[in-house]
Amino acid sequence: GGTRAARPSRKPAGAEAATLTSPERIVFPEAGLTKREVADYYAAIAPWLLPELAGRPLSVVRCPDGIAKACFFQKHAGRGWGAHVHTIRIREKDGSDDYLSVDDAAGLLDLVQMNVLEFHPWGSPAGDPDHASRIVFDLDPGASVAWPRVVAAAREVRRQLAAIGLASFVRTSGGKGLHVVVPVDPPAPWDAAHRFAQGFARALASLHPDELVAVAGAKNRKGKIFVDWLRNGRGATSVASYSLRARPAAGVAMPLSWSELGRVPGGDAFTLRSALQRVRRRRNDPWEAIAGTSQALPPV
Ligand code: ATP
Ligand code: MN
Ligand code: MN
Repeated sequence: GGTRAARPSRKPAGAEAATLTSPERIVFPEAGLTKREVADYYAAIAPWLLPELAGRPLSVVRCPDGIAKACFFQKHAGRGWGAHVHTIRIREKDGSDDYLSVDDAAGLLDLVQMNVLEFHPWGSPAGDPDHASRIVFDLDPGASVAWPRVVAAAREVRRQLAAIGLASFVRTSGGKGLHVVVPVDPPAPWDAAHRFAQGFARALASLHPDELVAVAGAKNRKGKIFVDWLRNGRGATSVASYSLRARPAAGVAMPLSWSELGRVPGGDAFTLRSALQRVRRRRNDPWEAIAGTSQALPPV
C-alpha cells in the first residue's frame, strides 16, 4: 500500500519483534509482492492458519530469492530457524529425524524471515504423528481439463464419501486443483488411512474411467483428473488451508463451502490480495464443522 516506505521493517503487532530482513525484496515478480507483504499476510491470517499447523510436523517451501528463482521443499529442521520455531523428533525406519513445528504467529514469522512461502503440515492430530486425523483427495487435472470438470469431480468425491457415511470439505489448492478433505475422528493409524484412500480412489476411478484416474504419472492423467490419494501416508503432507503458493499468481489454498464451489473460477481464484478480504468479509467459516465431525473410517 501507499504507506509502505514509512513502515518499519519489523513484524506487525501481535508477533514479538524479530527483524524482517530485506523487507522490500520482490518475492512474487508478476504479482508485484514483497517479502514484507508476505509477512503482513501471514501475520494477519495467523488466527486461521495456526489451527491447521500447530503441534504438527511441518514441511515448508522456501524461496530465498523469490519465486522466479530456485525454491525448495524442506522436510527436516536443521538449525538457525529463530526462537519461536520448534522441532519435533520423529521416529523413522532407521533412527529419527527432526521436523519443524510452530505454535504461534511469532513462529510463522520466524519462518517467513527464512523465506518460507508455503506451509505443508502432516495430516496427523497435534502431538500424534502415528495417526491420521485428515485424509486428503487431491484432484490434479491433466493439462487439457476444463475447470468445471474439476468441480464435478470434487462433487462426485463428496457424493461417494457421503454414501459411505463420511462428511467432507473442499478447498482450492491455490494452484491448479481442488482438495477434498475428510476429517477422521477417532484418528486412524496411517496404514489404515493409506489403504482407505487408495481403495476409495481406485473404486471411484473405475466408476468413471473416462473422467478420473487413480494412478500417478503425467501420461495417465492426459485429458483426465488424477485423484491423488498419495498424500495419505505417514510423513506425507498437503498444503495447509490459508497457505500461499510459490506460483506466479500468489494463490492461496482457500476453504470453501460446497454451495459456493460452483462460483469459484479456478484453483488459484484466491490470492494474497483477495484472501484476507474474503476472510474478513465472510459471515462464517465454511469449515466450521470440521473440528466437531466425529467419523471413523469405514472398511474399504
Ligand atoms: P495443485 O492444485 O496445483 O496440484 P497441490 O498443492 O495439490 O496444487 P500437488 O503437486 O498436487 O500440488 O501436490 C503436492 C503435494 O505433495 C503438496 O501439497 C506437498 O504437501 C506434497 N509434497 C511432498 N513432497 C513434495 C515436494 N518435494 N515438492 C512439492 N510438494 C511436495
Ligand atoms: Mn494437487
Ligand atoms: Mn497431487
